[in-house]
Amino acid sequence: MSPPNPPPKDVAVVGAGVIGLSIALALQARGLSVIVLDREGPAAGASEGNAGAFAFTDILPLASPGILRKAPGWLMDPLGPLSIPPAYAFRIAPWMLRFWQACAPDRVAAATTAQTALMDLSKAELEPFLARTGTSGMLAKRGNLQVYESQEEFAASLPGWDAREAHGIAFRHMTAEEMADLQPGLSPRFTHGTFTPEWYSISDPKLYTLKLAERFRAEGGQIERAEILALQPTDKAVVLQATDRTFQVRQVVLAAGAFSHRIARSVGDRIPLETERGYNTTLPANAFDLRLQITFGGHGFVVTRLSTGIRVGGAVELGGLRLPPNFRRSEAMLRKAKEFLPALETGGGVQWMGFRPSLPDSLPAIGHSSASRRVIYGFGHGHLGLTQSPATARLVADMVTGAPPAIDLSPFSPQRF
Ligand SMILES: Cc1cc2nc3c(=O)[nH]c(=O)nc-3n(C[C@H](O)[C@H](O)[C@H](O)COP(=O)(O)OP(=O)(O)OC[C@H]3O[C@@H](n4cnc5c(N)ncnc54)[C@H](O)[C@@H]3O)c2cc1C
Repeated sequence: MSPPNPPPKDVAVVGAGVIGLSIALALQARGLSVIVLDREGPAAGASEGNAGAFAFTDILPLASPGILRKAPGWLMDPLGPLSIPPAYAFRIAPWMLRFWQACAPDRVAAATTAQTALMDLSKAELEPFLARTGTSGMLAKRGNLQVYESQEEFAASLPGWDAREAHGIAFRHMTAEEMADLQPGLSPRFTHGTFTPEWYSISDPKLYTLKLAERFRAEGGQIERAEILALQPTDKAVVLQATDRTFQVRQVVLAAGAFSHRIARSVGDRIPLETERGYNTTLPANAFDLRLQITFGGHGFVVTRLSTGIRVGGAVELGGLRLPPNFRRSEAMLRKAKEFLPALETGGGVQWMGFRPSLPDSLPAIGHSSASRRVIYGFGHGHLGLTQSPATARLVADMVTGAPPAIDLSPFSPQRF
């Protein structure tokens, strides 16, 4: 006699990135049985190679009048902070139109308020989450230094800092001398800076995500390799159609990063998810004596100390999910980093490209599918998925268990487009 089939799991989470695994752990903590399905395995996507920042102070949406001012200049440089490969320019046009519409001042103000609520929740959830998952030792609180090359560039940043101040963000503007004390070795071309102390970082985003997977398994969770093609909700369950088999569970959480919209389409939701491809190079740990994360905002990249090396990366390439990476972008950022931190040793680096999952108004999609309350979305966190993972986990766990949400979820509704 063959053994009986195991009972169906309460929840399947599609995607084993930092968002999916944080959600899976939060559901597990509420006593639910959970299976995580990923076509490659944990930390295979953007969660592998990001800059490791819990950027709680980054409350201003990318879609803003400021970006509209900078974008034309950036687009002139084919290896600059923002690029649109000609092969993808036509495909991205509808998303760009929505992005442009989201830059209207009233929409920016509403998105900033929503983003602040999500950031505050994430900040409150982070340390208890790390303690529960045995990862507290991976957190560093070194802060971030945003640097400017002229009085004009600094002055142009001030309205943004005023907006952050209005939302309770702590920061301190700095002179070149003060910056030199904080971070020796910074080029004197940077005349002004702003230090934000409440910007934390994780020792390494890939190791952190793998640790979450390990913890989830240790608590009885199951992670399987499966590429999910479609979801079929019924009154009592949801069937997940994979390439080679099916799964049946009571509820599904879709957290497949930049690929989520393809699966959402199978339940009738057309979500304008695009990818902002980002690049970096990770240098050996002794490449530079980096004391804190530095943001070169005018050049669209950051330099970060990880336990595994010094990571130089950022940039936005609106090139979709299929074009091969253009690692000349990683090289261009590394050349600039050498100019800005002259003692940086640039040999021995490892290059990487990742797909940021981005919605045009810079807010994620957190909410039910339009077809069924058994299908819940948690994706589209753009530049901030690591930062917002603790809040997303809490909010999705509330939705799955029917608890009242900790913050107003309407700005994150997947049906808002
Ligand atoms: C250069 C760069 C720097 C960044 N820096 C930061 C930072 O400092 N701080 C920060 O907060 N954020 C940062 N981000 C953004 C952050 O990395 C992402 O927002 C976050 O990793 C998204 O996590 P995710 O779990 O949604 O997606 P992913 O990590 O991409 O995971 C999605 C998973 O879904 C799986 N999958 C896809 N399709 C299917 C399918 N059909 N079936 C099954 N599985 C599937 C994939 O294999 C993958 O494992 C950065 C991003 C980049 C590119």
